Amino acid sequence: MKRLTIEMCDLKDKRVFIRVDFNVPIKEGRIKDPSRIDAAIPTINIALKKGASVILASHLGRPKGIPSKEFSLNIVFDYLKTIFRETSVKFAGDCIGNDVKRMAKDLKRGEILLLENLRFHEGETGGDETFAKNLASLADIYIIDSFGAAHRAHASISVMTKFFPYVASGLLMEKELHYLNDMLAEPEHPFIAILGGAKASDKIPVIEGIITKVDSVLLGGGMAYTFLSYLGNKVGNSLVDGGSVTRAGAILKRAKEINKNILLPVDHKIAISINGDDLQTTGGVDISDGYSGFDIGPQTIEIYRNEIRRAKTILWNGPMGVFEKPPFDTGTKAIAGETAGVKGVKIAGGGDSISAIKQMKLESSFSHLSTGGGASLEFLSGISLPGVQAISMVD
Ligand code: AMP
Repeated sequence: MKRLTIEMCDLKDKRVFIRVDFNVPIKEGRIKDPSRIDAAIPTINIALKKGASVILASHLGRPKGIPSKEFSLNIVFDYLKTIFRETSVKFAGDCIGNDVKRMAKDLKRGEILLLENLRFHEGETGGDETFAKNLASLADIYIIDSFGAAHRAHASISVMTKFFPYVASGLLMEKELHYLNDMLAEPEHPFIAILGGAKASDKIPVIEGIITKVDSVLLGGGMAYTFLSYLGNKVGNSLVDGGSVTRAGAILKRAKEINKNILLPVDHKIAISINGDDLQTTGGVDISDGYSGFDIGPQTIEIYRNEIRRAKTILWNGPMGVFEKPPFDTGTKAIAGETAGVKGVKIAGGGDSISAIKQMKLESSFSHLSTGGGASLEFLSGISLPGVQAISMVD
């Protein structure tokens, strides 16, 4: 059995509802990074090529059921028009209701209709059945391409699917699942995971989810101090998630029992404050009182580089330090550069890791940059995502 994909579907003269993830960052009225929209373009193009008319639906931000200019998808509409210059792109002022229904009905083959923010209705996040039915009434076929929202049991993701005979994945969804599921199910070894970032509570479940498949896990960023703290090292004022220390200890023990390496920083770049006051590099693992570890140190970078160099499969999520504040970006950049040079499967996820890769213009050296933050972490933790579960399986 395999997942049903858009490529397998007959879409000729059909109205195709594509649940996309256009939840892009917006600053001062401009789209700061359109990657999520760009990532959905191949799916829209294939639907158009197959003779469909396309209805696009997404959420943007957290408007909590209240329509507002701030969270309007109008800004995405403007962006789409610059991409689909030869295609008629329309924008509906809502996502349900008689006006939208009429616009959907009048849509001709090759045309695109973007719906207004799904979360302007509380029924979206509430998983309301009537709201879902109203959305479903707009189209003949449903395609899910919103991997970034696949962990939400919302109306447009897991409820409206029941009103369609089948659910097919879009090209982006399929790519995410190809790398995060298929490629990691039977990875080429050595398989290493590099995990960093601030929240130990987010990343520990990922280690638990993949520990039997990996050979080594390299830890960095603020989350590493929760592990070092469990081991009794001095961590000064570094970030420690008190509620996760026991769980961190349990995974260290488990890894040892099943012969897996979990590597922790052996030195650090430290300072009294995030502004870099009294910046120092420790000679060893302990951090003096009053100081915080804001990046991995040079010895750790060297050890991690050696591990990375011999890997055939690499999964990376989360920065090795406070990447946004140089000089605490050194560890993250070193890891990004070394990973990019490896021949093999390289998958990265998480906003900061991807932004480091983009800053260094290394995107094309990675096999896959995941568009799903929370969704990819939950998926890698082994949690079944409603948006993935919804996809039909075929022989
Ligand atoms: P996350 O969302 O959990 O991947 O965390 C990303 C954030 O972790 C970034 O904003 C980094 O600045 C932060 N971070 C990474 N390393 C550290 C550290 N050693 N101390 C505090 N914050 C950190």
